[in-house]
Amino acid sequence: MNTHPKHERTLIIVKPDGIQRGLIGEIINRYERVGLKLTALKMMIPTAEMVEKHYTLDPEWRMKTGLKSIKGYTDKGLKPPHADPLKVTEIVLEKLKEYLTSGPVIAMVWQGAHAAEIVRKLIGGTEPRSSDVGTIRGDFVLDSYAMSDSDGRAVRNLVHASGSAKEAEDEIAHWFKKEEIFDYKLLVEQIIYEKDLDGILE
Ligand code: GDP
Ligand code: MG
Repeated sequence: MNTHPKHERTLIIVKPDGIQRGLIGEIINRYERVGLKLTALKMMIPTAEMVEKHYTLDPEWRMKTGLKSIKGYTDKGLKPPHADPLKVTEIVLEKLKEYLTSGPVIAMVWQGAHAAEIVRKLIGGTEPRSSDVGTIRGDFVLDSYAMSDSDGRAVRNLVHASGSAKEAEDEIAHWFKKEEIFDYKLLVEQIIYEKDLDGILE
């Protein structure tokens, strides 16, 4: 069993709006340049069943998402669509199925130290309206819960990324077969991870 942090993996999905906006390269570039390694990539049009399974792999997701969404409304002085977090999530999930089955997506596995945490940091918060400047969601999209709700659709935020390394392993198994994921060494891993830098000087 490889226990070094460099073996951590995470799942990223470029959502249909990311593809339509021409941001595939930009998104890949951000993970590549931070030093993560791409170990699997494929394009597909997910089914509604795959999307529902994906989000509900974590039994806590329904409650967490409902609570996060309600907080998003109340922080802005807005009224949430329901007081019950599970009801809020039910609406979100229906809209998510429409959103993610609307066109091709790209699913990827990225590997490296603290992969899940680093990828989440670079993506930014869920609602683009308040995602930090410098993050993917903060830099490339301007959607909000207020606007997406009044238009009756999911908030468009370009990318999905696993919430933790544990969540990532379940999600990777959901989207990829073992043989679609590649184990290989990147030469730059030496400068990123190795203790001794012998061999640089001639
Ligand atoms: P993420 O991990 O940051 O993507 O966020 P979640 O796992 O909490 O939610 C999954 C996806 O559902 C988000 O990326 C959004 O596309 C959508 N979503 C989540 N919460 C809300 C909400 O309160 N309103 C709307 N319209 N969409 C939401
Ligand atoms: Mg999530």
